[in-house]
Amino acid sequence: MKKNPCKYIFVVGGVISGVGKGITTSSIGLILKNRGLSVTAIKIDPYINVDAGTMNPTEHGEVFVLSDRDETDQDMGNYERFLDINLTRINYMTTGRVYQSVIERERNLGYKGKCVQVVPHIPFEIIDRIKKAGENSNADVVVIEVGGTVGEYENILFLEAARMMKIQSPKDIFFVMVSYLPTPGKVGEMKTKPTQHAVRALNTSGIQPDILIARGETSLDEKRKEKLSLFCNMAADRIVSAPDVESVYDIPLNFEKEKFSEKLCSIMGVICKAPNKKSWDLWKNFAKHAHNNKNTIKIAMIGKYFKTGDFILSDSYLSVIEAIKYSSYAQGKKPIISWLDSVDFETNPAKLKELKKYDGIVVPGGFGARGVEGNLRVIRFARENKIPYFGLCYGMQMMAIEYARNVLGIKDATTREIEPKGKNCVIDILDEQKDNLKNHNYGGSMRLGGFKAVLKEGTVARAAYNKKEIDERHRHRYEVNPDYIPALEDNGLVFSGTSPDKRLMEISELPKSKHPFFLAAQFHPEFLARPLSPHPLFTAFIKACIKK
Ligand code: GLN
Repeated sequence: MKKNPCKYIFVVGGVISGVGKGITTSSIGLILKNRGLSVTAIKIDPYINVDAGTMNPTEHGEVFVLSDRDETDQDMGNYERFLDINLTRINYMTTGRVYQSVIERERNLGYKGKCVQVVPHIPFEIIDRIKKAGENSNADVVVIEVGGTVGEYENILFLEAARMMKIQSPKDIFFVMVSYLPTPGKVGEMKTKPTQHAVRALNTSGIQPDILIARGETSLDEKRKEKLSLFCNMAADRIVSAPDVESVYDIPLNFEKEKFSEKLCSIMGVICKAPNKKSWDLWKNFAKHAHNNKNTIKIAMIGKYFKTGDFILSDSYLSVIEAIKYSSYAQGKKPIISWLDSVDFETNPAKLKELKKYDGIVVPGGFGARGVEGNLRVIRFARENKIPYFGLCYGMQMMAIEYARNVLGIKDATTREIEPKGKNCVIDILDEQKDNLKNHNYGGSMRLGGFKAVLKEGTVARAAYNKKEIDERHRHRYEVNPDYIPALEDNGLVFSGTSPDKRLMEISELPKSKHPFFLAAQFHPEFLARPLSPHPLFTAFIKACIKK
């Protein structure tokens, strides 16, 4: 097949945030990939932070770590999962990152004496990055999600970059606007006006959408489609209805019901294959599990990053939730996940008994002192009551502390992270991290990204992976203190995964003879779980939950 010139699809949002741009971007990528096109995706976040790593998850959702160490936005996880690809730092940009490069180049005389201006030099830098991401992955199509909504100040320079790209190569640049059509309860009718305004706001940036995705509680009817067509200056067949769905994995399927990939390819003028039926059937088969309400398992997620005002924000643990789903679906089960605040187990210890009704317990990653004592109580309860337990990063560190306190009898066992002067820091700072903390060098400085580990024969972990060497993504500053390893091992804790030089403990577990599943990883296996290839550790955990 002749190689098409690279096409760029910008996805922008109208009316409200959280309208589903990330899933739309991922789904557009997937339906094009299914037509034999090579696709990559870019996330633009308009904030000043150079990356997402310095933000609390309740501010902006999960921090998704790439293999190449970049700490990015959770949407990058959606792209990796839907498209089954590994992205790199060039696929992610923020206002801070763009300005940082421009300023660095100016300091190095890179602009050869010119006056460096917000326009055009910032949009030029944005354009360079977008093109580089396409070149690096030899993509036919680059889908670029512009964060925020149109009409706000923050993303104006990114839209200006998109407009410039369009004027430079009009046949290669396209715009999809995802907008929201509210149905106010009292009115009872779907309203198009906010979307009309949003399209006009985009027009003031010199951009006209090629496709309008109409998000709403229900489908768009013909009458409103006509209205939008007339007032938004678009042919009616360019307006795609996208009602709320139970599972995000239905969205690409719904898009294809409206022949969206065919529409997109014809608008872009790309030569592509017919949709690949075999891989589409695999996706359909995967997606249908989300509707299986008969065969369920109950999982308790113990965390502290999900309360925002009076609302619950599960986004903080998005990859963990998705990883649980994939492994459960593959076993013919649908997980029902409950959010339990670790702090509640401190104020109300009687709450522990409620844990008995769950098939498994997960303690995901975290930072700082809040909720640690609650977590330790939960882990002890899971160990003593033989409830499958899976710890992720902080969840592994706390598993070691719990074991040290309640099995080894080291009552003041703790982590240096919360007790810098602690006497028994079973979890201590990594050597290479000491200077970072001393110099307040926090941004992008943790032990980040992909590292290899080796697995011990005859362990739960080794059986789960069914191989000796693994490569997993990390994000931490602390480690199991080597001074305590012999005592922990003598008392039955098994370090089944270590760094190849045996210096760092990567997985800890209790043998099957002692507990149905009591295992934790220093890394974040959730970042590598994919819809059609679930993560082996999550699968081992889910299998144990099903047995319970
Ligand atoms: N706070 C711990 C550390 O920095 C664990 C980090 C995490 O859970 N991602 O080592």
